[in-house]
Amino acid sequence: NEAIKILGVRVDKVNPAEAYNRFLQLMDIEALSMIFTPNTEIVMMAQQDKALKAILREADLVVPDGIGLVYASKLHKLGLEDRVPGIELMDRILKYCHTTKRSIYILGGKPGVAERATEAILKEYPCIESKGFQDGYFKPEQELKIIDRINELKPDILFVAMGAPKQEKWIYKHRKILNVKIAMGVGGSADVWAG
Ligand code: UDP
Repeated sequence: NEAIKILGVRVDKVNPAEAYNRFLQLMDIEALSMIFTPNTEIVMMAQQDKALKAILREADLVVPDGIGLVYASKLHKLGLEDRVPGIELMDRILKYCHTTKRSIYILGGKPGVAERATEAILKEYPCIESKGFQDGYFKPEQELKIIDRINELKPDILFVAMGAPKQEKWIYKHRKILNVKIAMGVGGSADVWAG
C-alpha cells in the first residue's frame, strides 16, 4: 500500500477495509510483521523522536488513527479519506482470529488488565485461543524470560498495550527474536477491553 508523509512521518494511505486486507497479507508472511496505529499526538511526538520516526518508517502497516491526521492530509492534499481507529482494526483482527481459530497474547497494562481484557475478548470471541497475558510493568531483568515464554507459546498475534512510544520501541527492539506472526501496538485498548 501507498505511504504518505504527514509532517515527515510515514502513514499508510489506507481506509479500514484496506488496512484489514493488508493485515491478511501480512498473516501469509512467515516473518514477524509490525503494525502501528499512530494518532496525531504520536505524529507530533515523532517530530522530536527520531527513533520513533524511523520505527514507523520500517513498520509493515501504519494506520492513521486520528481525525487530525485526516485533516492534515486534506490540507496538504495527500489523499487520506478516513481514519482507521486502532481499536477497530484490533476488533477486526480479533474477529478474524475467532473465525480462523488463531491465537493471541496480550502484553501490557497494569497488573490484571491484560487478564481481564483476555477474558472479555474470549467472551465475545470464544474460538480465539489465548496463549497468555502479561502486565506491562515488568522489570528490565524479567524481559528476556517474558520473551522466552511468548516464543514457547508462539501466539499468532501479540498485542502490545504499553502506550506510545514505549510499545513501538519494545516491538522494534525485539522484532528479530519474537516468534509471533504479528506484533501490534494497541495503546489503551487493553484497558478498554478490561472495562
Ligand atoms: N503501560 C504499560 N507499561 C508502561 C506504561 C504504560 O503497560 O510502562 C500501559 C498503561 O497501563 C495503559 C497503556 O499502557 O494501559 C496505554 O497507556 P496510554 O493510555 O498512556 O497510551 P495511549 O493509548 O495514549 O497510547
